[in-house]
Amino acid sequence: MTAPHRHRFDVLEFDIDPERRHIDHTVIAECLGAGLDGCPVCGQQALEALITNAAATARLVEIACVAIGEMFGGIPAYLYDDNVGGPASATFRRLARLGVDGKIDQMFSTVEDMTLDERRQAADTAMDITIGRLVLAGLGMR
Ligand SMILES: [Zn+2]
Repeated sequence: MTAPHRHRFDVLEFDIDPERRHIDHTVIAECLGAGLDGCPVCGQQALEALITNAAATARLVEIACVAIGEMFGGIPAYLYDDNVGGPASATFRRLARLGVDGKIDQMFSTVEDMTLDERRQAADTAMDITIGRLVLAGLGMR
C-alpha cells in the first residue's frame, strides 16, 4: 500500500484546440502524470475516469497524434491503417484515421458513440504513444 498521492502533468502545451471545446484537461493530466511517474495504480484509475468523458478521451487521442506527428513528421500507417501490423488498437486506428483526414469534429463525435470498452482500447494506445514520446523528450521518471 502506498499513501494517497497525486501525479501532475501540465498539458497546456498540448492545448491545440482551435474550436475551444470544453475539455476536462485535469483527468488527462492525471493519466499522463501517473504514466510518466511509472505509477500503474493511479494510471489505471485516471484512465477509467477519463473514458467516462468522451471529449477528454478524444483529446487524448488527438494529443497522441500530435505527439507522434511531431516525432515522425506525420502519423505512421501502423497507427491508423488496419492492414499494417502493430500494437495500436483498432479503435485508436479508427479515430486516428479521422485525425489524419482532418475530421476532428467527427473524431470527437465518434468517441461519443463508443462503448467504454472501445474508449479504453483507444485510450490505452494513446497513452502508450504519448508517454513514449514524453519519455523520449526527457520528461519521464522525474
Ligand atoms: Zn500514483
